[in-house]
Amino acid sequence: MRGSPLSQLPRMDTLLASPALAESGLPRVLQKAGVNQILDELRRRLQGGECVELPSADVLAQRAKQAAEELARPGLRRVINATGVALHTNLGRAPLSRRAVEAVVGAAAGYSNLEYDLSAGKRGSRTARVEELLRQLTGAEGAFAVNNNAAAVLLMLSVLTPGLGIAISRGELVEIGGSFRVPDVMARGGARLVEVGTTNKTRLSDYAAALDSGEAQALLKVHPSNFKVVGFTQTVEVEELAGLARQRGVPLLCDLGSGALAPGPWPADYPTVERWAALADVVSFSGDKLLGGPQAGILVGKEEPIRRLKADPLARALRLDKLSLAALEATLLDWRDGGEIPVCSMLAAQPSDLRRRAEDLAARLSPVCPCVPVETAGEAGGGALPGEELPSWAAALDPAEGPEPLEAFFRGWRVPIVGRIHRGRLLLDVRTLLPGDEEEIGAALAAWKGEEP
Ligand SMILES: *Cc1c(COP(=O)(O)O)cnc(C)c1O
Repeated sequence: MRGSPLSQLPRMDTLLASPALAESGLPRVLQKAGVNQILDELRRRLQGGECVELPSADVLAQRAKQAAEELARPGLRRVINATGVALHTNLGRAPLSRRAVEAVVGAAAGYSNLEYDLSAGKRGSRTARVEELLRQLTGAEGAFAVNNNAAAVLLMLSVLTPGLGIAISRGELVEIGGSFRVPDVMARGGARLVEVGTTNKTRLSDYAAALDSGEAQALLKVHPSNFKVVGFTQTVEVEELAGLARQRGVPLLCDLGSGALAPGPWPADYPTVERWAALADVVSFSGDKLLGGPQAGILVGKEEPIRRLKADPLARALRLDKLSLAALEATLLDWRDGGEIPVCSMLAAQPSDLRRRAEDLAARLSPVCPCVPVETAGEAGGGALPGEELPSWAAALDPAEGPEPLEAFFRGWRVPIVGRIHRGRLLLDVRTLLPGDEEEIGAALAAWKGEEP
């Protein structure tokens, strides 16, 4: 063949007219994008001096169709969480309960009484129902809900302590999730940070000194929920801080983040909303991390400060959308009625059950690829139970060529499967698998085997 290979590339129109694309039923714009992707790639390789044998137009059209199909997939997709981390921030934190999912679908598909009081026949409050449930469940006088906990903290500080100095322990100046830094949020909220104590030790007298010197006019306690300082440490419990706040007549605000609603089968020193809310002026926490519900920021506390938060214009900018609100109300109803909440079941799963499930999964997969059940040290994630080992069980896949190609294949599967590589094996932790996931993993592994040369 003569002439530069570049000039031999088929034209866009030729490829679009080929049966692979013309009969694909894919939107025209995606067909074109697919063709461009394939042709650009070839052009780049030819210009780079690579010696490329030009495939036929039919083969190119087939590749363009695959590229177009890839582009047609939704960006946000369901994935299988085989990491064992129940509240995985990168994987959407909490899968919703059945009741919450139904509530979301109902609110999404039709009209709702979002801001309409059906008995009075006039405008009503968007958050009244969840406020009532939150008061019942936490024992707090007042409650409110916004977009996420970062928003809740921002609102709390902006409205209740603008321009004030806030005393906070150096051990609690935490960063959470890579973008939420307590000092930055405080600055945004217009509060002045007054650091007290040291990273590992803070005493009540440190807070008292900050108040007495006139530097601070409020107290903030943050639950450093994603790490634990161990060793030579001292922190001031919320009871003592509340005593100091009352004595000096200053507000005590708390960012709890994650924890528990009330005492339960968790470590005794695990903070609960019930305990903190009884002592502080306002406590904020995450709707997904703490309740296993939708992303939301919840504020509970005394009646007067909560009323001020609700009335502030910023509350309107940070308000919850109707779908999250529907999910939150349903999740709170599950808490009230003892309904099943997936994250709670995962965290409470017994090692003996997890072991049996890992054995079943390994037995399902081992005819296709070497696989054995193994014990793992999981974690709750989402800043829950830091430092608490959550022993779990996984199916450990041990392909002859190493785990990397299989791990990548799983991530690219129709329902992407996210596990983790540990010591040369691909671990699929069963704690976070949902009903039906085992079958899907089996189908993925069979397809991977089928693709092998
Ligand atoms: C997670 C967390 C936040 C941020 O909460 P989001 O709901 O992710 O916005 C803030 N403070 C603490 C203590 C947290 O644990």
